[in-house]
Order: sequence, then C-alpha cells, then structure tokens
Amino acid sequence: MKALRFYSAKDLRVDDVPRPECGADEVRLKIAYVGICGSDIHEYLIGPSILPADPTKAVNRYTGGRLPQIMGHEISATIVEVGKDVQGYKVGQRVAVNAAIDDRHHGHELCDPCEKGRHNICDRISFYGVNSPAGGFAEEMVVKSVALVPIPDGVSLKIAALAEPLAVAAHSIRMSGFQKGQNAIVFGAGPIGTALTFLLKDAGAKCVMVSEVASSRLEQAKAAGADRTVNPLEEKVLDVVHELMGTGADVAFEACGLQATFDAALASVKTGGTIFNVAILEKPLQLNTNILTRGEKKLLAGNAYTAEDFDRVMRVLSTRGSDVEKFISSVVPLARAVEDGFEEIVNNKSKHNKILVELSGEH
Ligand SMILES: [Zn+2]
Ligand SMILES: [Zn+2]
Repeated sequence: MKALRFYSAKDLRVDDVPRPECGADEVRLKIAYVGICGSDIHEYLIGPSILPADPTKAVNRYTGGRLPQIMGHEISATIVEVGKDVQGYKVGQRVAVNAAIDDRHHGHELCDPCEKGRHNICDRISFYGVNSPAGGFAEEMVVKSVALVPIPDGVSLKIAALAEPLAVAAHSIRMSGFQKGQNAIVFGAGPIGTALTFLLKDAGAKCVMVSEVASSRLEQAKAAGADRTVNPLEEKVLDVVHELMGTGADVAFEACGLQATFDAALASVKTGGTIFNVAILEKPLQLNTNILTRGEKKLLAGNAYTAEDFDRVMRVLSTRGSDVEKFISSVVPLARAVEDGFEEIVNNKSKHNKILVELSGEH
C-alpha cells in the first residue's frame, strides 16, 4: 500500500509499504481523510525531534516507533477488518482515531494518571502518526480498538477528520475551568486558536476576543465566531480588553508561544483568572511569578485529549458540521501531499486553516 513516510527534515516520501497485520485486539482501517497538523510541519522542517535520528533505534519499546515514520494523526476512516477479540465494532463502521496511545494500548499495568482516567498524560504516552509505526497518511492503518471514536450519522468523513484538532481545543477549555457566560481571549488564530474560538462560543462564552497579527487569520477567527478581533500591530490589546471585559478576561488561551503574547495573556486576565497555555514553544519564556502571586492568577496547560473530549466534539459536529467545514481550506491527494500540502502550508501559512489529505475520499 502507499504511505507517506518521514525520513528527515524536508525528506517526506510516498513509499510502497507492506499492509499491516490486524491483531486480535485491533481493527484495520481504510483511511478516508487526514489533516496536516502544525506539529507535522514542525517535524518536516526541523525534525527528527521526536524520534531518534538513528533509524535502527526505536523511540520506546512499547510502540517500537522509529524512522521512517508514517505521519498523520488527524484521521477519519472506515473499518475493513475487526480482530477476533474486539467487541462493539463492525466492518463498514465509520470512525475517527483518538491518536493518544497509553498503557491500555500497550497492555502495560496502568500508571497513576491512567488509573485516574487521565490517559492523555500517561507515563508512556505516544501517538499514532508521530512515534508509533502506524500513521494516518496511508491507504490502511491498524489501531487498537480502544483508539476508535464512532462517527455519528450525518457527520461526513471529511468533517470527522477535524475531530482530533477540535478535541485538543475541547480538552483545553475543559481543563481551564471555563464556565458558560464567561469572557475569554484567544492569542493566535491558527488551527487551534480558531478551534478554541468556535468551541468557546458553542459552550456559551459571553465574549471571545482573538488577538492575531495575520489579517487572513483574523478573518478565519471571525468566521469561527469571534466577537472581536484585534491586530496587536494596529491596536493596544489591553485597551480593547478593558473596553470589552472591564478588569480583564476570565480565561486567556495562549496559542502562539511567543514572549509578547505570553506577557499579554498574563496581563489580560482579571485577578483570580486563568492563563491557559496550549502553545508548544520554540524556546523557553520568562515568567514574572509576581503577576500570578499578587492577582492569584492561575497558569495552567493541557496536553492532547481524552475520549471524553472526542465525545463532546462529536456531539458538536452532529449539529454544527457545516460551521466547521469552512475550516478546511484545501483537500489534496496523497501523491501531492508534499507539494500541495506541506510545502503549501510552509509557503502560505496564514492563508490556510486546515489542509486535508484525501485517501479513500469516502463519505
Ligand atoms: Zn496535531
Ligand atoms: Zn499510563
């Protein structure tokens, strides 16, 4: 079968690889659509940063992930084979993939976070399409049945490929303690920033303000439901915050990872408010903890998602699928994924929210 494999920086190839075997507790998926994530682009440009550069060495003994890696973790698919011990799933069923791999997948004794249902911070966490042999940019993929998320009737496979990035945003909102009727600010209107904006409004935010320097991304934030967008190169962010929200926001989500946006996030929440980091940093930031201490502001962070977050996203997609379809800025075939997908995002980043790679293209 055809699969898109990452070898090293700027070296991504469509290879012929053997069809994976389906074990007793696994299912074989025919992949429909897979989104290209910012983390895929990061790895493509400056990787390998997650897997050992030496292809003879695996990242860990639980997944055995090593280079070359089949990328792709924002996956929608149809089940084409069900392992003999798997219950509750059948051939022909449409599913998304919860890409986080934890102790349940490894058959390992559960660590403390897994015992508490916090599988996203498992001591042995890894991800399909990142550091596990199975990845989504392929005609087929075999996953453990615990990774499956059924797609509700009426939600297309194309839209379901957005469930994974939306689940990242849903998890952040849940962990931030955000409550209906509160005010929120989102710094950065890339794929996660727009997903946060959309889900915050869906969850009943009174006002969502989005700060972003790229004008095309400000348009995307508006389309996602932002009440007010701010370009910090043209307006003072704090002035707008005070005008809209009085002393400050209840929660600020940091989805940029720059010192300037982090400082603005710290300053823009009211006393007792929460700064929630979802950005992956290029380099460490400075933090004046006096800002937290004096105002009893909370600094929190989140990693990936759990099944609960996928459930919430699937409920939202069943009623508001057409509203998120506009996040898809382009759909490209696997054979053109490097040129029209990865390179297109590198060269025209702010034009795009989400580029999908089409495999089977089924509905
Ligand atoms: Zn991702
Ligand atoms: Zn665990």
